[in-house]
Amino acid sequence: MQPLKYLSGYPEHLQQRARELLDAGRLGATVRGRHPQAHAVRNDRQLHDYVQELKARHLRQSPPLGKVLYDGRLQVLKHALGLHTAISRNHGGKLKASREIRIASVFRDAPAPFLRMIVVHELAHLKEAEHNKAFYQLCLHMEPDYHQLEFDLRLYLTALEHEAGRPAGDTGIP
Ligand SMILES: [Zn+2]
Repeated sequence: MQPLKYLSGYPEHLQQRARELLDAGRLGATVRGRHPQAHAVRNDRQLHDYVQELKARHLRQSPPLGKVLYDGRLQVLKHALGLHTAISRNHGGKLKASREIRIASVFRDAPAPFLRMIVVHELAHLKEAEHNKAFYQLCLHMEPDYHQLEFDLRLYLTALEHEAGRPAGDTGIP
């Protein structure tokens, strides 16, 4: 049985269901059917505005955003679903932390709820560095459906990786 790396933290029966859909070549279509909405956040400038708007609504107290960009080299899993870097710069002897948010470019073409979920994840890191209880409470405050969306996103990434280049209905047999 092939391991599904994006789903390794989930109960076996959920992984099994994902495997069945994957074997049937229907995992990607199932996830897209559940989340058909696309988004219009095409470039870094639009991404910055999108992140800024969510931040203004939910996290006004946290430090200002630094750079916000789509990053084509980012590997989603390796960077725990995003990348949050605190860069310290020396300004006239005073250390100032600048918060940069990089979003893997796979989210540019992902369904709208997945972009929102990953941005919520990165914004929560402005206040909590670790994936602890306080961190997930912040995520849920910004997106009540956070946990379901994270699971669906992991299904989506699994489908992208395993079903890539296989049109729906293709058996994979030449
Ligand atoms: Zn994280």
